[in-house]
Amino acid sequence: MAKKADKIECNRCGKCCLAGEGNLFHWCEYLFFTRLGTPTCMIYDKRLGKQITGGTCISRKDTKYDYPNCPMNTGKPIHPFWEGKT
Ligand code: SF4
Ligand code: SF4
Repeated sequence: MAKKADKIECNRCGKCCLAGEGNLFHWCEYLFFTRLGTPTCMIYDKRLGKQITGGTCISRKDTKYDYPNCPMNTGKPIHPFWEGKT
């Protein structure tokens, strides 16, 4: 079992919770922002494979993009919505 310090952990920024195509990206309808602006998935335990407007929720490691400041990045292109943004 990996030590906690060895694990790459999501910082829960919510940046990968976009759906759609082209210039029509939108936040997933299951992404909830608290009053403090912290994003939370409303269906976290059942999210994988869930149909969302504009796509399907998949494991972060299976997405085809990187996201700004995401510790899960693997050298893929930055998601088009976030190009030039942080
Ligand atoms: S972009 Fe990365 S850090 Fe942000 S919520 Fe997604 S996996 Fe977590
Ligand atoms: S269902 Fe998936 S894309 Fe939607 S908020 Fe939850 S983790 Fe993000």
